[in-house]
Order: sequence, then structure tokens, then C-alpha cells
Amino acid sequence: MEPSAPEEIAREPLFVVRNLDKVYGRPGRNSTRVRALDNVSIEVRRGEALGLVGESGSGKTTLGRLLVGFESPTAGSVLFQGRDIAQMRRAELGHFRNMVQMVFQNPFASLNPFRTVRDVLSSGYRRRIRRAELRTQLVEALERVGLHESMLDRYPFQFSGGQRQRIVIARALTVQPSVLIADEPVSALDVSVQAQVLNLFKALQRDLGLTIVMVTHDLRVVNFLCDRVAVLYLGRLVEVGERDEVINSSWHPYTRMLMSAAPNGDPEVRSTRPWVSSELGAAAPPEEGCIFAPRCWLREQLGNPERCLSARPESRELPVEITASPGHVVECHFAEEVPHYARLAEEQLAASDGPALPGMGSLR
Ligand code: ADP
Ligand code: MG
Repeated sequence: MEPSAPEEIAREPLFVVRNLDKVYGRPGRNSTRVRALDNVSIEVRRGEALGLVGESGSGKTTLGRLLVGFESPTAGSVLFQGRDIAQMRRAELGHFRNMVQMVFQNPFASLNPFRTVRDVLSSGYRRRIRRAELRTQLVEALERVGLHESMLDRYPFQFSGGQRQRIVIARALTVQPSVLIADEPVSALDVSVQAQVLNLFKALQRDLGLTIVMVTHDLRVVNFLCDRVAVLYLGRLVEVGERDEVINSSWHPYTRMLMSAAPNGDPEVRSTRPWVSSELGAAAPPEEGCIFAPRCWLREQLGNPERCLSARPESRELPVEITASPGHVVECHFAEEVPHYARLAEEQLAASDGPALPGMGSLR
């Protein structure tokens, strides 16, 4: 076999997720079953920061947990470097568990209150290095996340929320991972420290070449950190693409709606983006048709509203002639028409001086 060119290795996806289903609850007991992920296929590229966005209950955390192997798929597969993680044997699984680390929302809950920073960080090194080297490594580990060696013998309660999240990240880095899966890592922090922790993630991506999967409901986080964005709705991946395209010129009505309600710090943008829905909150997924059809504010304008209610759209890649970059995937029968009708609706809205549109509330 020919050796791969370096650029091919660089482009090789780290994760390949294929037709992933995750159903919670006992089979046969329909009323208690929740389809948290429904036929999700996506790649995570080496070195990228991929944002997973969507309202509460859309399956973001579930996808994150499947990527780290905390949960197993009901159907479909998660490949890491070409290997199905469900098929990995002990040694390989151990290696995988080091390579892929997870960071959670609440740093306090993920630190043992009775262990000092030294204890927390040492366990990641102990097996690999000699005692004499340990101190140097610990100091380096702290410095990498912007903390000082004087903090080594303190306990978690002696730190602020932002510092605790740095300790959690430092602990994850002690095993030299190549991927961080972060589930809302800054949303429990004060706004003033959120930016500092996000800066840290960005530095780790840049300086250590880490791949980052960032679960978030906050568009500011996406804007700051992510190269690509994946949008989930009721367990289905409705759109994936380069960040700027997904945020500014998306081809799915749900993404448009989500972006219009997101706190992006620009009240003008928020009030001129249209979305109309009487059914707030998580609806039960419809049995057939597009998952978003019951809430779709463009359905009547788009080509064939009946089709939206009766036929589930395929996830498909849009032709590069209409997107600025390849690999833009969307699950809408009429994606090509969305920008046009969305613009019309926005213009109509800007021209009318009707009441402000209802916000979507928290996206969490
Ligand atoms: P998100 O992180 O986007 O808010 P989750 O992945 O946490 O969404 O949840 C997706 C859906 O799966 C929700 O309806 C949630 O109630 C359900 N769910 C998540 N975890 C479990 C579980 N362990 N048991 C049963 N249902 C669950
Ligand atoms: Mg979640």
C-alpha cells in the first residue's frame, strides 16, 4: 500500500459516527422510551473545534457521551481512528480512554473535595514518570492552564469556579489526550471568567493540536471557538457545516430559528430574524415527515408543505455551487429555497411594525 501523503493524514477524520441511534428506556415500553439520537452520521476532523448546538433535550450530551464511550449505541457505530469503539479490547480501550477526555459543565461536581490539586493531577502521571520528575510535570500542568504552583496543596473549595474548571482541564491533559469533549464547560461560570476559560480551550487547540468537541447552547461560544457547527433537533442532526455558513447563511429553517433566538449580543439581529411558532418547548417527534415540520415557520412558503409532513428528508450534502465550502450537510427537502424565503420573511418583518417576535427563551 502507498503511504498516505501528510495532507491526507491531516484530513483523515478522527471520529466517524455512522447512523447512530440511542434509545433510552426498555424495549416494548413505548411510553417510557426516548429516542435521544436518531440516525446521526457525522465526522470529527483532527484538530478542529466542532460545536454541537441545539435546544435542551436535543441530544447534545448523549452524543458527547457516546463519543467518549460512556454509553453504547442502540444502533450504528462510533469509529475512532478507524476502529469501532464498541469492538475495542481492553488495552485498546484503555488507550482510547486516555486519548479522549471529557470536561463537564460543573467543575465542582467533578472534583473530589478531599483531594488537593497535587493529588488530583498526580494520578494521571504516576504510572508514567518517576517521582523526581513529578513536581516539574505538575508545575507545567498548572502553568499550561494558567494556574500557579503555589496552588498545588489547596483543595477545590479554595478555588473560584473558573479556576476549578482549569484544574479539571489540567487533570484531563495529564494523560496527553488528543480530544477534549466539553459539555457546556463555561455555562456554570460567571460571564467574566467564561472568556478566560474559552481562551484556554482555544490555546490548547492551537498549541497542542487538540481536537475539541464543544457542546453548547451559547452562540457566543460557537463564534469564539468553533470551526464547524452541528445542529441537533430532537435527536436528529439537521445541519452541519463551517461555522460562518451555519450561523449566517444556514439552509435549515430550524438553524435560522435557533440563531435568531440565540444571545449574540446584537439586539438588532435578534429582532429582525423571523421565526413564528405557537408550540414552544420540546415537542414529541412526529412519526413521519420532517422532524421539524410541526414547528417549521417556512413550511407554507416552501415548495410542497404536504411532503414535509409525510416524507422524512434525507440528510444530504449541498452542492458546492451554492455553499461557499464543501461538506455542508442539511436535512430539509427544500434547503435550496430556504435562504430566499427567509430573506423575504425578514424583509416583511422589518417593514411591519408589529409586536416583537417571541424569543425562544433559554436554549439550554
Ligand atoms: P441535551 O444535552 O441536548 O439537553 P440530552 O442528550 O441530555 O440532551 O437528552 C436527550 C434526550 O434523551 C432528552 O429527552 C432526555 O430526557 C433523554 N435522556 C438523556 N439521558 C437519559 C437517560 N439516562 N435516561 C432516559 N432518558 C434520557
Ligand atoms: Mg446537555
